[in-house]
Amino acid sequence: MATMKARPAVAGSADLQELAKRHLWMHFTRLGAFDRAEVPIIVRGEGPYVWDDHGNRYLDGLAGLFCVNAGHGREELAEAAAAQIRELDFYITWSFAHPRAIELAARIASLTPGDLNRVFFTSGGSEAVESAIKLARNYYRLTGRGAKHKLIAREIAYHGTSLGALSVTGITSLRAPFEPHAPGGCHVPNTDSYRWPEDRDPLWAADQIEERILFEHPDTVAAVVLEPVQNAGGCIPPQEGYFQRVREICDRHDVLLISDEVICSWGRLGHWFGSQRYGYQPDIITTAKALTSANIPMGAMIASDRLAEPFLEDKAMFAHGFTFAGHPVAAAVAMANLDIFEREDLNGHVLRKEGEFRAMLESLRDIPIVGDVRGAGFFQAVELVKDRDTKEGFNDEESEELLRGFLSGELYRRGLICRADDRGDPVVQLSPTLVCDTQQFEEIESVLRPVLTQASNRMRG
Ligand code: PLP
Repeated sequence: MATMKARPAVAGSADLQELAKRHLWMHFTRLGAFDRAEVPIIVRGEGPYVWDDHGNRYLDGLAGLFCVNAGHGREELAEAAAAQIRELDFYITWSFAHPRAIELAARIASLTPGDLNRVFFTSGGSEAVESAIKLARNYYRLTGRGAKHKLIAREIAYHGTSLGALSVTGITSLRAPFEPHAPGGCHVPNTDSYRWPEDRDPLWAADQIEERILFEHPDTVAAVVLEPVQNAGGCIPPQEGYFQRVREICDRHDVLLISDEVICSWGRLGHWFGSQRYGYQPDIITTAKALTSANIPMGAMIASDRLAEPFLEDKAMFAHGFTFAGHPVAAAVAMANLDIFEREDLNGHVLRKEGEFRAMLESLRDIPIVGDVRGAGFFQAVELVKDRDTKEGFNDEESEELLRGFLSGELYRRGLICRADDRGDPVVQLSPTLVCDTQQFEEIESVLRPVLTQASNRMRG
């Protein structure tokens, strides 16, 4: 017979710790790591900072996860959500519409590059990528080129975890546990040129895409999926002219260009969309995260008029959707979020301040462990190396010791949340809220400098 379970009492931090360890399945988390360590519990946020349950303040150098772009604790976003719940709590966007989804779709379309005028809402980034993949395949099927189904993405790139999105994600450790994947995912080198031979053609990585299309045969390739600046591997920017070359290649072989801007839109690179920074025209943009400054889940797949056209015919339909997509509360929050962006000119702020932010990180190059500094806008990374002259990186064991044995914990202990990551070579990534300014850059430096110096001493004997 089923026994009644008591509702757990939560009287304070100790209870939260115990309950977190017993019940909360944290994502991408080694749960065993918390056998003896505390789960970090964040209880409050304001502007560029968050506080934990012990009252310690942290500079949120990751903006949640590249997403709280307008900064924490925006009263008007809370008000927008509350007002919308009072007016219309929920309605679907399946066969129906509601004012907020309509207004938001039109506003997004007014901000996108070119004719990206059709906004298909989702609940997050993986769903947006999933939708883009399905649209690409469906479009070619409807227009008589149904063999075009393959997707070309880059090594080490992260495009989400649902099985379709995972087929383009290029990180072996995330793919291996879930084989076999949805067919059609192919991977090519990314634009990380730190260890390239000096005489390599700067557009080599772009040309690798064409070689792969030809190898697979253009009749079988539907789309190329690329981030404007690749996140995983450490904020890897494109070479000058990379996207123009990719666009030419895509046009030559009738392949769609999907710009995955789940991170690189909404001011992260100082523009509404990352593709605007690099001056290229995608066929589809995927976005999520900062569309609402992460105050509520929302994403979107934004398609060109050309791609939407076959679906406008009488009986045609994109047979795809999600219950919560275009949720009125999320759409209301997104509208209020974009109001903040416009009123405070957050995109302009990033463009004005990115040089100062970058210069602070460049100043760390005198620490022997700092090999490379790269990125764009408020999206920057420092790559850590064993030997700066030879660019020799750390092996898996050393990387584990460096990142999990020391860096992550020490940065957090000193009040800085950022990402110490080794999905490629070890990097420290910074993607702060867009309200950060000189004071926060100085705070970041005041933590990074001593911690990287200590790391350097530890790892280099
Ligand atoms: N695409 C990119 C480029 C991302 O960075 C992410 C998440 O970080 C995703 C897709 C997946 O988004 P979500 O975690 O909202 O599903």
